Amino acid sequence: MSNKLTPKERLSIERVHMPELAADVRSGNFEEVNQGLSPEQALSEARRCLQCKNRACVAGCPVGVSIPEFIDALASQDLPRAAQILRGDNALPAVCGRVCPQETQCEALCVRGVKGDAVAIGYLERYVADWAMRNPDQLLTAALPASTGKSVAVVGCGPAGLTAAGELARQGHRVTIFEALHDTGGVLRYGIPEFRLPKEIIDREVAVLAELGVTIECNVIIGKTLTIPQLREEFDAVFVANGAGLPTMLGIAGENLKGVYAANEYLTRVNLMEAGRRDDAATPIIKRSQVAIIGGGNTAMDCVRTARRLGASRAMIVYRRSETEMPARVEEIKHAKEEGVEFVMLTAPIAILGTPDGWVSGLECQRMELGPPDQSGRRKPQPIPGSEFVLPAEVVINAVGTNANPLLTASAPDLELNKWGNVVADENGQTSIPGVFAGGDIVRGGATVILAMGDGKRAAAAINDYLKAQ
Ligand code: FAD
Ligand code: SF4
Repeated sequence: MSNKLTPKERLSIERVHMPELAADVRSGNFEEVNQGLSPEQALSEARRCLQCKNRACVAGCPVGVSIPEFIDALASQDLPRAAQILRGDNALPAVCGRVCPQETQCEALCVRGVKGDAVAIGYLERYVADWAMRNPDQLLTAALPASTGKSVAVVGCGPAGLTAAGELARQGHRVTIFEALHDTGGVLRYGIPEFRLPKEIIDREVAVLAELGVTIECNVIIGKTLTIPQLREEFDAVFVANGAGLPTMLGIAGENLKGVYAANEYLTRVNLMEAGRRDDAATPIIKRSQVAIIGGGNTAMDCVRTARRLGASRAMIVYRRSETEMPARVEEIKHAKEEGVEFVMLTAPIAILGTPDGWVSGLECQRMELGPPDQSGRRKPQPIPGSEFVLPAEVVINAVGTNANPLLTASAPDLELNKWGNVVADENGQTSIPGVFAGGDIVRGGATVILAMGDGKRAAAAINDYLKAQ
């Protein structure tokens, strides 16, 4: 079927709404909130795309997905072609369709957004990727390339490592991923909860890599089990993508009390170790009714919505700026509010209070007001003298951010780091050690899935050139 509509006909179609689980149902379970578009909704949304010649949306995508082309194939009801185009540009489309901040990337540049609603590119990406997973027998597959005889070690099995591994395997190189944890996916698995990204989606996307011949060795900590110089000796090139998972401490009194968690620990216990969801989980979690989360990003939103699902009657976000400055995705904030999360804005923690036997009993806070913008361009919060108050809390979760973990870099003294401990790499991922490339959060600090994937893609191209030149 062709996708022939006049611009007027396209402009008359309204943007679809993503079907969601009802808030009162989902706040008691870990089922995925967004349910995905129906075939009719997907077709209708695809027909809204104007097929612009200048492809403004593509410029907003860090991995350069051929957006109008895959949408055109979808609108023409040629799903195998839509899937082939999408998967050719993006190694993890079902993940990106769920967690990418499209509203600030491709959709922010979509011309339909100038006078109305942008095309729901993310929803369509998810639709096509999910279709491809359900219909593997209908996919158009390319033959595997001949082996180049070259080998590449990838450190870390998050989005940057997975993307680079896929791209390199498609060039015929022998790729081995070394992952410190016992499972794949990085933050996608241990950080982002199932109600946003089901584990099955990660398993299926990782399985595509296995089909390409990528080997994944879990439970290998580079910096302990093996070092970067050892990898460099054994492999023709190395890509370092170990993320930035070390929590930033709050630096306030009471951080060692029982009931205080760093966000990554809290989420890892629930998502990876199944604490709170299985009574016999080996790694338990403290469940209480009053839980305060400090921070305003996606991580804070994931923690607070998890706490709510683990039974907190009062799950609170404590953030020192206002909602306008919150870095979390708009959709996460909306979902959290619908699920009964409390937002305590313009409030900074001063100390975590405890009982005589060492358990958290409250969070001492101070009200803030916004001053002029700081270096980040956001208005700087300033304390209001005399505004101190105590927020009742039994669990406090620190979700203010993370840093690079020095475990790996300490084993590679020649690897240049910046003042925050992140690996220094050029735009192609080349580090100070020849043949060692890096990308994702270990280079950028905490960023996004798609930026990490973009780094993986660029580094893979540079590694390919490097190997060819040898
Ligand atoms: P990671 O995903 O951190 O993967 C690194 C991998 O390396 C991990 O598996 C780690 O175990 C492994 N590793 C670490 N050290 C070693 C070692 N020494 N040896 C071997 N392996 C090692 N971004 C979005 O775009 N949308 C979102 O909705 C979103 N939500 C988020 C929610 C949370 C809770 C968090 C924490 C982040 C979120 N992000 C989101 C950010 C995004 O997940 C990261 O930017 C992205 O995962 C970075 O990818 P990466 O591959 O660089 O690192
Ligand atoms: Fe379609 Fe929007 Fe991209 Fe134009 S900018 S091609 S309307 S998605």
